[in-house]
Order: sequence, then structure tokens, then C-alpha cells
Amino acid sequence: MAEQESLEFGKADFVLMDTVSMPEFMANLRLRVTLGGMWRVDQDKSSHNHACGRDWRFEKGRIYTFIGEVVVSVNPYKVLNIYGRDTVEQYKGRELYERPPHLFAIADAAYKAMKRRSKDTCIMISGESGAGKTEASKYIMQYIAAITNPSQRAEIERVKNMLLKSNCVLEAFGNAKTNRNDNSSRFGKYMDINFDFKGDPIGGHINNYLLEKSRVIVQQPGERSFHSFYQLLQGGSEQMLHSLHLQKSLSSYNYIRVGAQLKSSINDAAEFKVVADAMKVIGFKPEEIQTVYKILAAILHLGNLKFIVDGDTPLIENGKVVSVIAELLSTKADMVEKALLYRTVATGRDIIDKQHTEQEASYGRDAFAKAIYERLFCWIVTRINDIIEVKNYDTTIHGKNTVIGVLDIYGFEIFDNNSFEQFCINYCNEKLQQLFIQLVLKQEQEEYEREGIPWKHIDYFNNQIIVDLVEQQHRGIIAILDDACMNVGKVTDGMFLEALNSKLGKHGHFSSRKTCASDKILEFDRDFRIRHYAGDVVYSAIGFIDKNKDTLFQDFKRLMYNRVSLMEISNPVLKTMWPEGKLSITEVTKRPLTAATLFKNSMIALVDNLASKEPYYVRCIKPNDKKSPQIFDDERCRHQVEYLGLLENVRVRRAGFAFRQTYEKFLHRYKMISEFTWPNHDLPSDKEAVKKLIERCGFQDDVAYGKTKIFIRTPRTLFTLEELRAQML
Ligand code: ADP
Ligand code: MG
Repeated sequence: MAEQESLEFGKADFVLMDTVSMPEFMANLRLRVTLGGMWRVDQDKSSHNHACGRDWRFEKGRIYTFIGEVVVSVNPYKVLNIYGRDTVEQYKGRELYERPPHLFAIADAAYKAMKRRSKDTCIMISGESGAGKTEASKYIMQYIAAITNPSQRAEIERVKNMLLKSNCVLEAFGNAKTNRNDNSSRFGKYMDINFDFKGDPIGGHINNYLLEKSRVIVQQPGERSFHSFYQLLQGGSEQMLHSLHLQKSLSSYNYIRVGAQLKSSINDAAEFKVVADAMKVIGFKPEEIQTVYKILAAILHLGNLKFIVDGDTPLIENGKVVSVIAELLSTKADMVEKALLYRTVATGRDIIDKQHTEQEASYGRDAFAKAIYERLFCWIVTRINDIIEVKNYDTTIHGKNTVIGVLDIYGFEIFDNNSFEQFCINYCNEKLQQLFIQLVLKQEQEEYEREGIPWKHIDYFNNQIIVDLVEQQHRGIIAILDDACMNVGKVTDGMFLEALNSKLGKHGHFSSRKTCASDKILEFDRDFRIRHYAGDVVYSAIGFIDKNKDTLFQDFKRLMYNRVSLMEISNPVLKTMWPEGKLSITEVTKRPLTAATLFKNSMIALVDNLASKEPYYVRCIKPNDKKSPQIFDDERCRHQVEYLGLLENVRVRRAGFAFRQTYEKFLHRYKMISEFTWPNHDLPSDKEAVKKLIERCGFQDDVAYGKTKIFIRTPRTLFTLEELRAQML
């Protein structure tokens, strides 16, 4: 009986399939009212008192909705009791549509595809900051951990534990409090979990993308730097802080002073212990953990370094700090000082030390601090990967090793002031949207065409044109930016903007004050606008050149590698973080790739990887900007539904079919249902046999017959087939 109810529930949650308009879609997310046995959407809140069976979904914590196989999730902003062991049991091994929509249903579907069909799958989680992506990724991993390893093998338990523990370390170093989210991920994460032939996790791998390292040196009002700094200062023992020359007071350090007084929902001191413990469990050696703390301390001290000008020459005002930094970084004070005040340049055959201006010295110090942190973060990821990667798995003996990938990456960002970082992030979202279009929309349509199924063409906006605008060789924004950065001599952001104007002025998705004089929102010589699929974003070109070049004077790299004279005291962990420091001055002639190009390359690789897997989607929506469990801000949600392309998704799904299967496989699974097909059929083809079976069950109006596959429109039919099958077994 419970079964029956859940099916009813499931059906109700597919009302979205009938959705035609945005208001209807919105109402579906939030509430549903039943009148006279029909599910209906009621948009007028005031009339609800008269409606019977009112169902405020959001307020009741029914935060998940299905669009076909896409789960839409609305952040409840309160702890819901829907992730426990009993819920896991309800979803384990069930078909997607058998149960109310839930993250676990998607996780189970991906897991089943992986286990039953040996398919590599991926779960892509998207949504804006604070929408619930990271929480979702953790619940998914938790679910997978809960349903695997029934025989309790110790090795599998160990792997699962490390996969789960790695999250908390990554969050300590990669997350920060922002105005949108108290625990905002400031990096993109793609995690592969590898499974053996039995379907048990045997390892994993993490890819990280574009850490927002500028946060190390500066934060917006109301925001903080990465959690790790506060955790160390609040949680480290007296003795430890003493050895790092640190004091507990957060406001003593320039780099983190802005957010020092902010209250956070995170208990930094307690978290420090949890993270230290997790690093230990994962397998970081004590000296590695020590180095991590030393690096954090060195960065805090760097921020307090002051330069004074004596004539033309900058000097370091607080020399004692230099010694501390040198000690923490296992190097010598005079070498640190030199790297801060001079840069070594090769002019022809000569190598000379060129003195920095005060401005250059400050720039160098900040660039150094950012770079050390970034290297530290990447090193942590590499270290975790070393430990969790699959070992001793021989595919010839054990069979195929399959993968479930989980992508938790920054959603679209539109701030008051959008810079290079937003440009990269929004480009990333264009790429993922393009993949979504290709996989869900385009392939769907193409398959119907291929199979000869009558299909009403559905129009949708194809954002490839915007992807090209950004990434196209020679003509795209990144290429133009790189060109500008290549120029010798002083190149300004204004010159970059000029180049954009002259090369892209006529592009339908690009505009600036120059190309659109009447547009008063845009500032001359500063702004440009991209018409993204998710809406218009105005970017300020200021800082693009700098951030793209991402200059870090070679001297710092050599300092950190400590190659020449300091072998005896150099720190091996630090050294592995700075491999290019081993190049000599004359060897460093090749220009490093720019930040935008590196990012572009990593995005292309990511998309290629995702495209090779069977995709599952979680689309997260943030109900309000106040982190409140009570408010469902229609306007905010509507905008997100719009730019996530969900209505378009529904349109295609509605016109389409929930399920398809080759005739052969379909028969293999359901032939016991009909006497015409059991145990074997004598019809001219499998297709004929399937037709007979379907007619026998009375489903002919809900299916279409393609050339090689049967298509079933509603999930309900599939459930019934499954039930009939179960009765026969
Ligand atoms: P994102 O990764 O999309 O920026 P998070 O996953 O960090 O967002 O979620 C932000 C906050 O919202 C979390 O810290 C948590 O308080 C709340 N939250 C998100 N998802 C859930 C959920 N399923 N249940 C309860 N609270 C949630
Ligand atoms: Mg996150």
C-alpha cells in the first residue's frame, strides 16, 4: 500500500511535464493544490484557504522536483530529516520514478547505470552560490558510501572514509564566508569515484578549478578569507602559535583584518581539530601538516610587511618579519629580502638585479602570498589524490573499473562589480550549458530523428555563439586578451577594451559604450557587456590584463625551490610545490600560459571528460538572499529557473519520452509478461514481438516504435511493466 502512495506521489511530481509557462513552473516548485482529484497549480496565495489539500512544497521541505531525470532542488535553509539511513533504504536499488524526487534517486540511478551497465556516469550539480551544490555533492557521496560494501571489507571502508574526509580538508582551504554563503566554495571541484566490478568504491580522484586566490590578500566588506587562516589562529595551541610566531588576535593581520570580527556559523576552533584529524586520517605525514601551518603563518606575516621609500629605493620597514617568514619557509632572510626588493632579469648575456619600485615591491609581495596559497591548495589536492587513487587494480583480472563523477562547480555570477573571475566563472557556465544542450536537448531530438519518431521540433536558445565569443581562436575574447598581454611595453586595460571594440563591436552578444553610445549603464573606457544565456553581465575591464598575466617574479619561484645554496635546510614539501624554481634564469624564456588560457584548457578538458559519461543533473535553486527557510522569493527563483534553461528542458521532455530501450534489451527484461514472448517468440522481429507485448498490456497509446528502440512516454507505464515483471518472477 505504501508502494501505491509513493507512486501517486511520484506521479504528482511529474506535473512539471505538463508545464508550459514560467508562472506554472514556479508554482510547481513551491506548491501544488489538489482540487477534485486533479493536480492543479494555484498561483493566487490568498485563495489557498479555500482550496482543499493544499500542499506547500517548499515550506514543507519537499524541496526536490523531477524534470525527467533532472532533479531540481530548492535550498531549504534548514536541517531536514530526509538523508538518514531509513531514507537511504527507501531509495536503494529502486527505479528512478518509483519514489518521490530526491538526490538519492539520482545517485542511485547513476550508481545502477554504473553497476548494471558498466557505464561511466557523472552527476553535474549546478546553481548559483549558496544554492546548495556542495551540500548536494556531499549527500550524494554519503549515499554512495551507505549503499556500497555490503560485505564490510576493511579496505573499501578505508577508501570510503578517506573520500568523505577529503571533503572537510578541501573545504577548510578552499571555502570562505561570503555575503552569499557562509561556506562558499571558492574553487570548482570535479571528483571521480572509481568502482570495482562488484560496485564497491576503490578510490577516487579530484580535479580542482580556478581557486579564487585574490581572496588571500583582500576581501569584500562582510566577507572573510579562506577558513584555514581563522581555524589556525583560533584552534592552534598556544605552543603551536608561538612556534609560528603568531598571536591569536585576528585583527593583527592585514590580510584577514576585514572579516576578523564577523560572526560565522562555523566554529573555527573546533573545525581546526576536525581538519587536522582528517589530514592525519587521510595520510598526511606530521611534517607535511607542519609545513601546511608554516605556509599559512608565512602568508599572514607577509601581509604585515611594509615597504618604505628611501630616496628611490624601497626598503622593508619591519625587518624582523622578514626573518620570521624566512624561518617559516625554510630559507634565509637576506634571500627573502632580495626576492622582495629586486628582480633578476636577463638582458642579452648579462644577468642583472633590477630594483623594484615601492609599488612593484608591494605587488610582488601580494602576488607571492597569493601564489603560495594557490600552490598549497593544489599540493593538498595532489596529496589527497596520491592517497585516494586506485592502487593494485588489474583490469584483466578484476574486470572494468567504472567511474561516477560528481561535479560541483561555481554557478553563474552577476555581482555589482564583475571582473576577470566572474568572466571565467560565467564562461565555465556557458560551457556547461552548451554540454547540457548537446546532451539533453540536441541528442534527444537527434535520436528521435534517427529513429524515425515523429517529433515536433522544439526551439531553444543555443548558446554556442556565446561560447565562441569567449573561446574562439584568434577572434574570441580570451584570444584578444592574450594578444594584449603579449605586447611588450605598457599595455593597459583600456587598450584591451579598445581591441575588443574593434574586433567584436558587431557581435550580437557583445557591447560597450563605444559600440552602443546610448547605453548609459556602461562606463566609457572601462566596461563591456556580454549577453550571456543567463542574462546580461557588465564586466569592468580593469584588472583583466594583470589577472590574466598573473605575473609572479621568477625570483620567488627560485626562492621557494631553494635550489642553489640551501639544500641543507630546504623543505622537501615546499620544493615539490615549486618545481619550476629549478630552472635557471636564462632557461625561463618561454612565456607561461596566461590564466585565462589555462582556465580555458581546463574547461575544454572537463567538458570532454563529462561528455564521455552518462549524465545526470542536479539543478540547485536558491530561494532567497537572506538564507531564510521561510522565504520563497518568486522573482529570484524565476530568474534562476530561466537561466538554468529549465523551461526549455521541460519543453523538450514533454514533447519527448521518458524512457527508451532497444527492442532486444526490452524483450530480455520483460518477455515473461506475455505468453507471446515467453520464453521465446516466433514473430518476424523483436520489434514485432515488443509491439505484441505492449498491446497485450494495453500500453499502445503511450509508446512509439522507432527503428531500433521502443520509446515510452510516461514513467508510469514503466512502473507497471516493472510490477508485472515482478509478479511473474
Ligand atoms: P553552494 O555550494 O551552492 O554555494 P552550499 O551547498 O554551500 O551552496 O549551501 C549553502 C548553505 O545552504 C549550506 O551551508 C546549508 O546551510 C544550506 N543548505 C544547502 N543545502 C541544504 C540541504 N539540502 N539541507 C539543509 N541545508 C542546506
Ligand atoms: Mg559550494
